Amino acid sequence: MGRLDGRVAFVTGAGRGIGAATALRMAEEGARVALVDIDVEGCQQVAQELERLGAQCLVLPCNVSNNTMVEEAVEKTVSQFGRLDILVNNAGIIRDNLLFKMSEEDWDAVMAVHLKGAFLCSRAAQKHMVQQRYGRIISLSSTSALGNRGQANYSTAKAGLQGFTRTLAIELGPFGITTNAVAPGFIDTEMTRSSARRQGLDPEEVIAEASKRIPVRRVGQPRDVANVICFLASEEAGFVNGQIIYVSGGPAPRS
Ligand code: NAP
Repeated sequence: MGRLDGRVAFVTGAGRGIGAATALRMAEEGARVALVDIDVEGCQQVAQELERLGAQCLVLPCNVSNNTMVEEAVEKTVSQFGRLDILVNNAGIIRDNLLFKMSEEDWDAVMAVHLKGAFLCSRAAQKHMVQQRYGRIISLSSTSALGNRGQANYSTAKAGLQGFTRTLAIELGPFGITTNAVAPGFIDTEMTRSSARRQGLDPEEVIAEASKRIPVRRVGQPRDVANVICFLASEEAGFVNGQIIYVSGGPAPRS
């Protein structure tokens, strides 16, 4: 018996990183999973892994900031699997720069994927969850919500997702739907590795340096986050609602 037997999950940004690990972890727990991403090739590779486990999945090309694509992806999931129990708002991008160099395009792009994407996906998914009187919505915030140099756009979006989470928890709780967020610290994914490379740094050295500042003395792996998302997606977590769970190896040192 898996913790998510019979459940259907819709995971955005599932083509790699935390989204891929979450999809895999949920499949291990018995869920059927819609793999949603603009990166279809990544999703197809993840789908092969899920199928090796004997799990059912669906690859859905979708830009989460496009409402028509989001509505279609949600409807395809429900017509294929008959229901939608779990939404993971994970798709994300970074466009880092100091404020005085940050372009309007980089501000808008980050807001469009993180904030508008989570809004559109949650609005489309809740229709089915309300009818079922059951649902789990989990969004990806970040320790950057607390402030991070060079990330005015991303920090704002990730802080915004915390308010969004608490508000949905109040609005949707009466319908058996819980809404929570995980806020990861440094996780070893293509997002953090490409950010290091863009700054002319060696990702391995960045990871080694970051590990020294983290109380558990290592950076996170995508599965560390996926494990917590999976718990929040389970029936066991039914009384956890509107919470932000930091998955960061310990509190950051005070500056
Ligand atoms: P990642 O490796 O860059 O993966 C993100 C995935 O989202 C990629 O497959 C990307 O596709 C996809 N995506 C981007 N824009 C999209 C859109 N508009 N519609 C659909 N899919 C889209 O990132 P990650 O590190 O796994 O991060 C996952 C989430 O965790 C993000 O929300 C991120 O902000 C958050 N987070 C990450 C860390 C960390 O340290 N890694 C820490 C805190 C929070 P493309 O490859 O085609 O762009």
